[in-house]
Amino acid sequence: MLPADTATAHDSLIQFLYRAPVGLVQADLSGAVEMINPTAAQLLMPMATNGDLDNLFALLGSVAPGLAAAAQASAGDSGWTESLRTTLPARPAEPPQVLAVHLSKLDGQRVMAVIQDVSLQVAQEQRALDRRLHEAARTDTLTQAPNRAELRDRIAQLQATAGAKPGAAYALIFLNGDRFKRINDRLGAAVGDRLLGLVVTRLRSLLRAGQAEVARVGGDEFAVLLRNLSSPDDAVAIGTRVVDALLRPYPVDGHTLTCSFSAGLVHGDQGDGDANDLLRDASVAMIEAKRQGGGRLVGFEPAMRERAIQRGRVEADLRTALAGAQLFVVYQPIVALQPATGPRCEGVEALVRWRHPQRGVVSPMEFISVAEECGLIYAVGEFVLAQACRQLRQWQVELGDRAPRSVSVNLSRAQLQQPDFVDWLRVVLQDSGLMPKCLQLEVTESLAAEDEAVRAVLREIKALGVTLALDDFGTGYSSLACVHHFPVDAVKIDRSFTSQVSSSEHHRVLVQAKVLVARSLAISTVVEGIETDAQAGIVRELGCDKGQGYLFSHPLPADALRQWLLHGDPAWSNSQPFATPTPQPAAAKPLSKISQRVITRRAA
Ligand code: C2E
Ligand code: MG
Ligand code: MG
Repeated sequence: MLPADTATAHDSLIQFLYRAPVGLVQADLSGAVEMINPTAAQLLMPMATNGDLDNLFALLGSVAPGLAAAAQASAGDSGWTESLRTTLPARPAEPPQVLAVHLSKLDGQRVMAVIQDVSLQVAQEQRALDRRLHEAARTDTLTQAPNRAELRDRIAQLQATAGAKPGAAYALIFLNGDRFKRINDRLGAAVGDRLLGLVVTRLRSLLRAGQAEVARVGGDEFAVLLRNLSSPDDAVAIGTRVVDALLRPYPVDGHTLTCSFSAGLVHGDQGDGDANDLLRDASVAMIEAKRQGGGRLVGFEPAMRERAIQRGRVEADLRTALAGAQLFVVYQPIVALQPATGPRCEGVEALVRWRHPQRGVVSPMEFISVAEECGLIYAVGEFVLAQACRQLRQWQVELGDRAPRSVSVNLSRAQLQQPDFVDWLRVVLQDSGLMPKCLQLEVTESLAAEDEAVRAVLREIKALGVTLALDDFGTGYSSLACVHHFPVDAVKIDRSFTSQVSSSEHHRVLVQAKVLVARSLAISTVVEGIETDAQAGIVRELGCDKGQGYLFSHPLPADALRQWLLHGDPAWSNSQPFATPTPQPAAAKPLSKISQRVITRRAA
């Protein structure tokens, strides 16, 4: 019999084992259970396939088959421990139960197992992990701003509650960096990334938390979701403020960078679509802002959606056109206007055309801007430039002196911004065998005025020996005052002036001023869009050097232009500008005759 106090201690221990909220098992080295408390029995019972709790290692065998061997092999009295987790077979409609089992050696003969139900803890861990994964999937890693998926959900929530709550008007502003790629190209992606981070910081500092959420929805694309607006005008005011604020310079790694943003604004009550539709409409308005020159806010209008769909179609068709050789080049003569130079074809302008299988010949006015927006302009531009160089070289070989002296090719902004453009140009010239001085590249005034980087590329082009012309001169904002900044050899006076020189004294004076400025800078002048004898006579008298227009010839396919060069008075030279030549008796005047007539009349 045990002494009284020992008996009490023994009872207490038994009580403790009996009531302990953890499972406790004592077994010998073969796993035979010597002691098991009720909690352990309850926890392990689901693992006892035959309802037998006699052997600990047999119970755990399906989870950890080598336990018996490991316990027996371990030398000494203690030191062997093993921890494992096991998920019990799920009971219907109950969450899976997870047990944590910790085994250790009590002495040389016995092992002890502590068993706990960790289902709750595991579920919490799983929930935390799910939350982190969910957040990661909905957060932009670079800026830590919500991403497109998250923004979509937030818009959807607003759409679900709007209308129900008065004063819950909302709007979405879609922002896209103008020419952001140039920053990446020039300074590297790391600098570009830091700039994007600063954009988010600036947007957040500008907007009231709770009223606006900033999301990054693409590379250089952001969105601002405005809520609780009291009037639509508020959204316009905030959008304008955003665009202005983003234009301020950013200090990045010792550089002072500026990047304007184009912004599209759509109000929550415009249209009845879902979150994706709202995002699409805002981005359609943003594209419109870009088309208007960028750095501005444009509000969405339903007609823009139609235009965007149309542009999408043109883009898809244009890809096919490039792959299927549907593009071709036509050439329009540029003629000398002054008697001293004599009436001859000084050059030709290469103009791209697209022979669409259903629509017939499509004007570049319809597809160049689409090509610029979607990046196809590189392929289009390369095609035209290479084709034009090869064609002039061929005429030089075939026609000798009667070949045009130069070919002018229009350049798009995107082409000039291509980092390897000048290298590529050099290769095209070499491949075609054309002398650089026989190629003239036309850039628009606004493009040349853009920034120093563009002008640096223009100087590189000139260094190759290629000449430059300022196209559509007079339509940009800089015109006369700035022309001396541009390294150009010629200015092309836009046809909007030509069409009025015979009816408006004001336009005559404007043309004269352009000619005088150009002449003072030793830059030659080409007048575009001459359609009548009267216009030709006036611009010649005003001192313009060269002219181009339907009066002399429409743009012609290469074969037709060859005939025009050789024979001067071909019946097809008055044919429709986009049509393939069809004989028409009321032909445009041949170059020699018309030039002579103009010259004689003015000289008289
Ligand atoms: P642009 O460079 O100013 O070209 C002159 C445009 O005026 C041509 O239109 C030509 O057909 C048209 N034109 C010539 N004479 C007359 C005339 O007497 N009256 C009238 N009303 N129009 C005349 P086109 O070929 O439709 O080209 C339009 C514009 O598309 C070009 O304007 C140029 O900016 C662009 N473009 C054409 N080809 C290319 C190209 O290969 N690459 C790029 N980037 N742009 C091109
Ligand atoms: Mg041009
Ligand atoms: Mg032009």
